Amino acid sequence: MANRDKATNQLPNFKESQTKPDVLTTGTGVPVGTKTATLTVGPRGPVLLQDFVFTDEMAHFNRERIPERVVHAKGAGAFGYFECTHDISKYCKAKPFEFVGKKTPLGVRFSTVGGESGSADSARDPRGFAVKMYTEDGNWDLVGNNTPIFFIRDPMLFPSFIHTQKRNPETHLKDPDMFWDFITLRPETTHQVSFLFSDRGTPDGYRCMNGYGSHTFKTVNKDGQAYYCKFHFKTDQGIKCLSAEQADKLSSTDPDYAIRDLYNAISEGNFPSWSLNVQIMTFEEAENFRYNPFDLTKIWPQGEFPLIPVGRMVLNRNPKNYFAEVEQIAFSPVHMIPGIEASPDKMLQGRLFSYSDTHRHRLGSNYLQIPVNCPFNARVKNYQRDGPQCVDENQAGAPNYFPNSFTGPQDNPQYLESNFSISGDVKRYNTADDDNYSQVGVFWRKVLKPAERQRLAENIAGHVSNASEFLQKRVINNFGQADPEYGQMIKQLLDKINAKKRAKQAGVPANL
Ligand code: NDP
Repeated sequence: MANRDKATNQLPNFKESQTKPDVLTTGTGVPVGTKTATLTVGPRGPVLLQDFVFTDEMAHFNRERIPERVVHAKGAGAFGYFECTHDISKYCKAKPFEFVGKKTPLGVRFSTVGGESGSADSARDPRGFAVKMYTEDGNWDLVGNNTPIFFIRDPMLFPSFIHTQKRNPETHLKDPDMFWDFITLRPETTHQVSFLFSDRGTPDGYRCMNGYGSHTFKTVNKDGQAYYCKFHFKTDQGIKCLSAEQADKLSSTDPDYAIRDLYNAISEGNFPSWSLNVQIMTFEEAENFRYNPFDLTKIWPQGEFPLIPVGRMVLNRNPKNYFAEVEQIAFSPVHMIPGIEASPDKMLQGRLFSYSDTHRHRLGSNYLQIPVNCPFNARVKNYQRDGPQCVDENQAGAPNYFPNSFTGPQDNPQYLESNFSISGDVKRYNTADDDNYSQVGVFWRKVLKPAERQRLAENIAGHVSNASEFLQKRVINNFGQADPEYGQMIKQLLDKINAKKRAKQAGVPANL
């Protein structure tokens, strides 16, 4: 139908692509005589247990859901390629950057973070921005967000932090006290919370936002020289954000707005793209940098560490099946390839463990055999065997132990990680008192325009007005440390909102 968008018209489009219906079968491929009646003794039942057409269908239906992702449950996916446009081989030998013009196939998943899989796409929340490149050296996952920083810098706090974004265990409701209590007790959150409540906290769909690897990584060149690196995907569509009012409205009128927008753009041939840039820091610069370069709550100033262009990511294919290719796509920061390595960033180190761990729970220990996760541009040859849902040839007759004398797969020192030395006292370091405010102050004073500052303060005040009074005071004090004007503006707005609330409770008309 001409007046319907591609997403809405999916089924008629499918019908057009078929010449005639396939023969209906059971899961074992046996043709089915009727799909509308169970096998019964007489017209009124009971049903016979031997009715495999029914039990096969019902038992499978009972198992249709796999565990929802604990975070990033709601998302959209798409596929395309990365094209190298600039030579960065002096910094990095990774396959996607091998030569200018090289194209590497990839898959992407964008998501919200805190909500369940049925929640609204327009929620004020960071957006996941995860990219999987299928390279000849195996799969490389860059599992980032639409922000260059994060709320915390020590992974020990991650489960607690996420609990404050989720539901109160007694009421099963979102709880402003939980949220603002944690935020103000851990002031390293101030920078990311300022991004979250700014205009960029409600991006207009997934195509008009940037993506960042966020962590500091290491890149290594073919001579074994290593650098620290940050990855920035800049949207070629331009940044577009929803106003707080638009975002609220969409959450009830079209909660799947961002999924629909991405699907329709790609199916209409309007392929979204992003330009990939890197920031590079030498080990010597890292030693002398005034901030900890591995602190995920801080950026590297672009004036000192300029963006270096690398290439372009284009999304030109929608998933053929959402469950198979998006619900089951499994990203992990530990999926790195030769030329890309981990830095000491504590949050990165924590994520290197937790992502693959959760996939083994959600999808099973053979989750890398699922086609969308399979490194199809490389060949998997190893000594892993068996396990649930082992669906490939299970390495056939090759030896399953190492070392062996029977031509099993061999290791190769060419692929050893770069050397680095490190020393320090083994201790649990509490980093709550690091400089939490200076970059937030720069953001407030130099990056935001006056109208953007006003909206940021309004968004915080509106949200925190639902929290306990002692938390409101802590919020004013906390943001005031980034810039006195920031705290003052939140205070003034809160005073107004609270006065209105008190008047409403006392039954005073709003216009008095
Ligand atoms: P620059 O002036 O060189 O960069 C400021 C950056 O801020 C821009 O390049 C843009 O990054 C980003 N930005 C612009 N408008 C907004 C907005 N409304 N909300 C969020 N980000 C915005 O300065 P510095 O690099 O020295 O950074 C100054 C401050 O800018 C930082 O303290 C940080 O708060 C913020 N910032 C810095 C980024 C970085 O990687 N250096 C990235 C994002 C924010 P982009 O083009 O990546 O969107």
